[in-house]
Amino acid sequence: MTYTVSNDPHADPLLMVLPLQGEVTRAVGEDLNSSGHGKCCAGCDKPFTVARKQRAVGRMTHFDDAAGRLFTTTWLLCGICAAAIRRNGGRLPAHLVQEARDATSAGLLLAAPAEGNA
Ligand SMILES: [Zn+2]
Repeated sequence: MTYTVSNDPHADPLLMVLPLQGEVTRAVGEDLNSSGHGKCCAGCDKPFTVARKQRAVGRMTHFDDAAGRLFTTTWLLCGICAAAIRRNGGRLPAHLVQEARDATSAGLLLAAPAEGNA
């Protein structure tokens, strides 16, 4: 499956749910784990355990046309949530979509050039 970046700001954000295999997704997972975001599943908010393993990395990409920037929000998902998202045609739960939008807004604020008023 291929994904293209849309430059329509109203387009749905792109979602990739990748199995936690391969170097890139493993690195992403380790990054989330080391930053403290890998303790709970982003979908069901339950802690990862021996039984509830980290199974997938979900990434949502927003392209902000005005800023010409790409923002990616990443989550770790358990097998149940990853399977539910796949069954749902790759749609993320609404609270994760909102989180990605919030992260994009925050990213845009950080990316905006500081207005000097000295
Ligand atoms: Zn879950």
